[in-house]
Amino acid sequence: MHSADAIKLWKDKRNAIILAHYYQQPEIQDLADFVGDSLELARTARDTQADVIVFCGVKFMAETAKMLNPTKTVLLPIADAGCPMADMISAEDVLRLRAAHPQAAVMCYVNSNADVKAVSDICCTSANALRIAKSLPQQEIIFVPDQGLGGYIARALPEKRFILAQGYCPTHWRITAQEIDAFRAAHSQAQVLIHPECNSDVLALADFVGSTSQIIKKAQQSPAEEFLIVTEAGVLHQMSKLCPQKRFFSLDGDRAFCPDMKKTQLDDVLAALEHLQYATTVDEELARKALPGLERMFAASV
Ligand code: SF4
Repeated sequence: MHSADAIKLWKDKRNAIILAHYYQQPEIQDLADFVGDSLELARTARDTQADVIVFCGVKFMAETAKMLNPTKTVLLPIADAGCPMADMISAEDVLRLRAAHPQAAVMCYVNSNADVKAVSDICCTSANALRIAKSLPQQEIIFVPDQGLGGYIARALPEKRFILAQGYCPTHWRITAQEIDAFRAAHSQAQVLIHPECNSDVLALADFVGSTSQIIKKAQQSPAEEFLIVTEAGVLHQMSKLCPQKRFFSLDGDRAFCPDMKKTQLDDVLAALEHLQYATTVDEELARKALPGLERMFAASV
């Protein structure tokens, strides 16, 4: 039996839902029940009635799903699919920043581990970071762990003072302004849509900056016919499906490729369902401390 057919059978047997991030392999996106960015996936995981959530993404996403919906079995098909940026900061680092800036709110990108969320005041995703930073009463904001997204919202809100952790996404951070310039020279009509995890030189060249779902929406609504999509290349799969008459370009080579997001294959999803592997667990005390920051994020993003 073909993997996709076997997955369907096991999915019914387990009363499971398959969630996939836009950065997953095209065949994983095609078999998923829901494809989205971090915010949309977290909401779907929180609200699902399924017994089992197969999370085709990376560890912090499965952890977040487990904290939001703790009675469900949350499976990460690849045990070591992680996020290098999430591992660039520890809870101790956050506590040191807090001690140095006692008046500041701690805003934590969801691309972080549960122990870091547990010592933060509020979470955010790239889709709602600006809105959440604006909504905070504090003038000072410690932003962890992504200096790309943190720098972007700091420049947009000069009335606030930001203390930025120095984490970064290796996939977005290696993209250079020179590459964007070279593309523009060859495609003068194209719109350049960029994810805020990129560095400030790259973001300065954007026609639009937004999360993956905001970039997709922008491409759908724009009258332009050509787009350079400056984020992980997996997102082009959905864009080409939604707008088959438009042309989407990504950057060459491994520049727009997240190795961890690309680990999950169909056979891994099948094995996850068959053997209920790899079940995500979050320490109860950590989850109790981390959950309010996630709930505040949802409350501030409606
Ligand atoms: S694309 Fe970057 S932020 Fe997203 S999972 Fe990969 S390393 Fe982490």
